Amino acid sequence: MSAPTNVVLLGSTGSVGTQAIEVIRDHPDDYRVVALAAGRNGEALAAQAAVLGVPEDRARLAGDQPDVLADLAALPEADVVLNAVVGFAGLPATLAALTHGKRLALANKESLIAGGPVVAKARAAGGGEIVPVDSEHSAIYQALRSGQPGEVAKIVLTASGGPFRGKRRAELAAVTVADALKHPTWSMGPKITVDSSTLINKGLEVIEAHELFGVDFDRIQVVVHPQSVVHGMVEFTDGATIAQLSMPDMRLPIGLALGAPQRLDQAFGAIDWTTLRSLTFELPDLEAFPGLELAYAAGRAGGGAPAVLSGANEVAVEAFLAGRIPWLGIAETVDEVLQAGTGNVEDVSDVLETDRVARLRARTSIDNRAAA
Ligand code: MG
Repeated sequence: MSAPTNVVLLGSTGSVGTQAIEVIRDHPDDYRVVALAAGRNGEALAAQAAVLGVPEDRARLAGDQPDVLADLAALPEADVVLNAVVGFAGLPATLAALTHGKRLALANKESLIAGGPVVAKARAAGGGEIVPVDSEHSAIYQALRSGQPGEVAKIVLTASGGPFRGKRRAELAAVTVADALKHPTWSMGPKITVDSSTLINKGLEVIEAHELFGVDFDRIQVVVHPQSVVHGMVEFTDGATIAQLSMPDMRLPIGLALGAPQRLDQAFGAIDWTTLRSLTFELPDLEAFPGLELAYAAGRAGGGAPAVLSGANEVAVEAFLAGRIPWLGIAETVDEVLQAGTGNVEDVSDVLETDRVARLRARTSIDNRAAA
């Protein structure tokens, strides 16, 4: 029997991090956690380290020292780096893992979106590979095995539609933070749950799919599928559509990202066909959820636009969660910041600067909105 795969787990106390630990603990012969990092929750981190037998100096809080994430991602003994950090803070770890030739199990979509061209360079130079943890992209990754790259006609990402599916724009003016945090099918952290309610999460996933699979934006479609059972589909040139189905359970894509192409020997989210009745599909309402089109536009514009979209959105979501702007203000803020200009990104310093300016502009826009 071969030695277990060494996993570095970044963002260990969040939703994906804790589920990854469940998967790893169920497969001790296959996987071993060699390092952990969390943002600020030192108590939870220490408890995880004790359970997993991770030494103290390898269980680190990254809150005020962002270098910690990149240092752990570059550890010589690491085989797989699972990046489940929330937001743009995940970028240094993504770059370090790829530069050092690791497998990057990527749950932090923001780093790939904001740093697209820079991440692609790091991947090419270091020989690392990215395996998506995001459920939709895991589905696409699986479906792509059914044909050759030149045979892909279209990628279809499904969206649950979030808690406000079916509501018209006028009805969305007064929704609260609590309303936005009630996701119908997935239990996730607050940032991504709000992003799901605005469909900006799906927009970010469109850009993520473009970066991961090299398919242009005209061939990536979003379909609302409220049951969240079909996670993603690939249509091939002969008209065949291959989909991946399972009940919503992140442990399935986490397990696949750790070991792909090998599958886990344990089922997560297997479908019970005696109770599953219907799967429905509809088109997204772009008037009520303008965030999706903003993301397509930013993706097509390229350069610094995806970084601006992602950075401005992070600031706007924080302001919404803090009760400073209404829900409709999230997409309005992002739109305003995108219109202020996006520039280009050639290297990491450009990405950092683009993100910094976008956040500054978003804060100004939010302050002006609050003062008005
Ligand atoms: Mg997703």
